[in-house]
Amino acid sequence: MTLTSPGIHHVTAIAGDTGPNLAFYTDTLGLRLVKQTINFDDPTTYHLYYGDRVGTPGTAMTFFPIPVTGTGSIGTGQVVTTSFTVPPDSLDWWYRRLTDHDFDPSEPFTRFDERVLAVADPDGLDLELVERQPDDSIDPWTAGIDEAHAIAGFDGVTLDSRSPGETTTVLELLGFTHVDSAADRRRFEATGTHGRFIDLVDEHDHTGRSGPGTVHHVAIRATDEEEQLEWREWLLDAGYHVTPVRDRHYFKSIYFREPGGILFEIATDGPGFDLDESVDTLGESLQVPPWLDHQRSEILRQLPPLEFPTEVS
Ligand code: ZN
Repeated sequence: MTLTSPGIHHVTAIAGDTGPNLAFYTDTLGLRLVKQTINFDDPTTYHLYYGDRVGTPGTAMTFFPIPVTGTGSIGTGQVVTTSFTVPPDSLDWWYRRLTDHDFDPSEPFTRFDERVLAVADPDGLDLELVERQPDDSIDPWTAGIDEAHAIAGFDGVTLDSRSPGETTTVLELLGFTHVDSAADRRRFEATGTHGRFIDLVDEHDHTGRSGPGTVHHVAIRATDEEEQLEWREWLLDAGYHVTPVRDRHYFKSIYFREPGGILFEIATDGPGFDLDESVDTLGESLQVPPWLDHQRSEILRQLPPLEFPTEVS
C-alpha cells in the first residue's frame, strides 16, 4: 500500500486581537473569511478561516485569536513560514500594495528560480507570496483584488525541525519527495496541483514558543474518511502517536506531533464549508457545531465581538 497526500489542506496559526487579523487577511491580502466559528477544543476562542471563494482544500489559512496572551516566538519545532501562490508577474504590485497598507515586505527575490516576497502579518507571523501559475481548481476571491493578482491558495510551508533527519522521514512517509536543495534549505514536493511544497530549513537557533504570530499546526489532505483511516493505521504502524479521528464538522481530522516538534494534522477534503451556510453567505455569521449548539447563547456571551475592518480598499 502506498499513500500519498496531494498536499496541504490548511494551516492554523495563533493571532492576537481579531481586528488587525481580519483587516490584514481580508482587506490587505484579499482572502475571503469563509468561516467564523469557535475553537471546538476551547469554545471561548474564535476559529477564523480565510480562503478562496469556497474554502477549497489547500486555501484555508485559519487562526485562533488569543488576545490575552503575549506574543509567541518563531523557532525550531514549528512551521516557520507559510507561503501563498500569486499569479506570475504580480509581486511588484503586491510590494506596492503591502507598502501602501503600512506593512514592510521584502523586495521580491528569487529562490529555486521562483520570485518570492516575504512579509510579516500584524502579529509577526512570517508569510511569503510566491509567483506561480494558479491551479484551475482554485476559485480566488476577487471581491477586493482582481484575478491577475489575487492569492490562489497555499504554495507551501517551511519547517524548521529540531530533528531534520526524522522530519525528512515523516515527509517521505506522507508522500512528499525531495526535489531540490539550496543552502540550508531542502524542498519536498507532493503529488497534487497546489499547496504541494514543504521546505525544510535550519534558520533558527532557539526553540519556538507557541503564541500569537506563530503557526499551531499544518494539515495535509486525505481524500476521504476511508483514506484517513488508512493513514492513521499506517502512521501507528510506523510508531507515531496519532489521535483518534476528531470531527471538525467541515472535515475530519487526526493529529500527530513528529519528532522534530511539528504538529501535523491529516484532514479530509469534505464535507466542506458550505455544510452549515450557503456559499453566498460564507463567513458572515458565527457558526457553532451541532454538538455545542445547546451552549450557543453562553458561548456568544463569552466571545468578544469581532472587529471587522470599516472600509475595504
Ligand atoms: Zn487544523
